[in-house]
Amino acid sequence: MSRTALVTGGTRGIGAAISIALKEAGYTVAANYAGNDEAAAKFTEETGIPTFKWSVADYDACAEGTKKVEAALGPIEVLVNNAGITRDAPFHKMTPQQWKEVIDTNLSGVFNMTHPVWPGMRERKFGRVITISSINGQKGQFGQVNYAASKAGDLGVTKSLAQEGARFGITANAICPGYIATDMVMAVPEKVREAIIAQIPTGRLGKPEEIARCVTFLASDDAEFINGSTITANGGQFFV
Ligand code: NDP
Repeated sequence: MSRTALVTGGTRGIGAAISIALKEAGYTVAANYAGNDEAAAKFTEETGIPTFKWSVADYDACAEGTKKVEAALGPIEVLVNNAGITRDAPFHKMTPQQWKEVIDTNLSGVFNMTHPVWPGMRERKFGRVITISSINGQKGQFGQVNYAASKAGDLGVTKSLAQEGARFGITANAICPGYIATDMVMAVPEKVREAIIAQIPTGRLGKPEEIARCVTFLASDDAEFINGSTITANGGQFFV
């Protein structure tokens, strides 16, 4: 019987690659998204993966959304917390709204999504919670006080969940991608992007599929003993 996996922000960028890789690995996959209906419809048309719209920043919507996914596809055994946003500004110009939006989505979103699926994982004595953090949560980044805080917070959540879930057969792990070629990075001005690439020893941006392969490994039975860990995938840019 195939396991059910839910990928937040699973219709574009890294999330889309994760949804597709999990499907190819035999999972029954649901992809959540926030508002871009056009991209979601195109994604389903191309992949056959059903999409479910709600914001991970809304606790009640997450409870309701996960129930809908489970009614349609069965208990969620693999949760991939991938949805994330940036609202960059140097600290002295960062507004409370920019701070709040990023924390609500990238950090509280992980709480909001994991909380409703956790009791079922405990009961069934199996679960995989995989959270996409970031290199910038590990090292900080100019103009990203909000984003770096949210992504560093995700690592703390992951390590704590790992300790609470271990005896129930649940693992919680994080992946810290470096710079990956998605809309998020392509939105950066070309000159800045070139400067970023110059700092990556591998000499190129990462591919969404390279992050997706880390996820399929962490989701697999082979990864049972890997718990509370962080996989860095950044082209040799930064080591932890
Ligand atoms: P994209 O901007 O390409 O895609 C983001 C996805 O998240 C979209 O599907 C979007 O939905 C969804 N999303 C955004 N906000 C919410 C929300 N509140 N609720 C539900 N879904 C939401 O991002 P990337 O693929 O680049 O990034 C994916 C993850 O990887 C993020 O967590 C990001 O921080 C992290 N990351 C990315 C790196 C990179 O270089 N790209 C580097 C390190 C980490 P919709 O289509 O509806 O807008």
